[in-house]
Amino acid sequence: MKKPAARFFRSVTRWEDLPDDGLPEVAFAGRSNVGKSSLLNALLRAPGLARTSSTPGKTRQLNFYRVNEQLYFVDLPGYGYARTSQEERRLWGRLITRYLQERPTLALVVHLIDSRHPPTPLDEAMMDLMRGQHVPYLIALTKADKVSGNRRAQAVREVERALQARAMEVPIIPTSAHTGLGLRDLWRWIEQVSLG
Ligand code: GDP
Repeated sequence: MKKPAARFFRSVTRWEDLPDDGLPEVAFAGRSNVGKSSLLNALLRAPGLARTSSTPGKTRQLNFYRVNEQLYFVDLPGYGYARTSQEERRLWGRLITRYLQERPTLALVVHLIDSRHPPTPLDEAMMDLMRGQHVPYLIALTKADKVSGNRRAQAVREVERALQARAMEVPIIPTSAHTGLGLRDLWRWIEQVSLG
């Protein structure tokens, strides 16, 4: 696949600062350390573009990347930090929740869940948030190279179970930023929903 033209566009901490050019947006969400930066960089074939967030609390904003002048990738703050203050969590939660529920140009939400662990309560809260939204939603299982085929199938089943409990039908794509597994599939979804 051709290397996409991607560049950092803007960090947003306030609703008023969201881009107003109407381009479709693909948002990436997941707990901190799930492999979000790595997956973004692998998708864009741009090592180091999205900074890996090994320091909890570093990623506190919605980071917009402009891709092929056709769409945005939106890196949402990782959730599940223990060290951020309650007030901060509440404020960030509000912006992200509003973004996910009200943003007219949001074309797809890619929810990242670690292949090695069953969905956490916060992962399930994210599913709850997406339930009843009309925006297309899919789950990318990250770091699939770290687990055996059996364990990978089990990870898919665990996520399926959590979705079924919510009567949700959502694509689940095992991915690896290291081997490239699932990236082509992911691009297919991104192109389908964002470019019509
Ligand atoms: P973020 O906090 O969600 O942005 O996560 P990072 O992208 O910084 O990744 C967290 C850690 O997981 C880093 O040590 C990465 O090298 C590692 N990692 C990320 N993606 C993969 C993957 O696909 N395979 C493997 N084996 N490790 C990964």
